[in-house]
Amino acid sequence: MNHYNCPYCEAYLDANGFVALLIRKDRGVSGIVLLSEELGNYASYMNAKIESKEGEKSDFNCPSCSKSLIYGNEDKLVRLFKTDAIGEKHTILFSAIKGEQSTYQISEERQLTFGEHALKFIDPEWYLKE
Ligand SMILES: [Zn+2]
Repeated sequence: MNHYNCPYCEAYLDANGFVALLIRKDRGVSGIVLLSEELGNYASYMNAKIESKEGEKSDFNCPSCSKSLIYGNEDKLVRLFKTDAIGEKHTILFSAIKGEQSTYQISEERQLTFGEHALKFIDPEWYLKE
């Protein structure tokens, strides 16, 4: 069983195969988005009021502590922590841009990429530098 946690408050964000995150839109509109916890599966569920247009960035936040999960130099990635079935910890990064299918699972020893746009980042090493 995998667990997905907030990097800040460590809240468990997964339930029944989905990861629940908070999306904030302009003018005080916000809501919950459900993402598949299977990496590389880009099916997502949310109310149409908070859905982004193709190419638009969404502001992903933790539903527990409300902190922004947007991460990295370009403010285009969302960061979560994952613990897998054997207890190994990983950093998960995925694009906050609607339609951009790139997901990274970064572990101490290796990096896995998912999604058809993942290769556009040639050197992902900088994600680990804080
Ligand atoms: Zn949190």
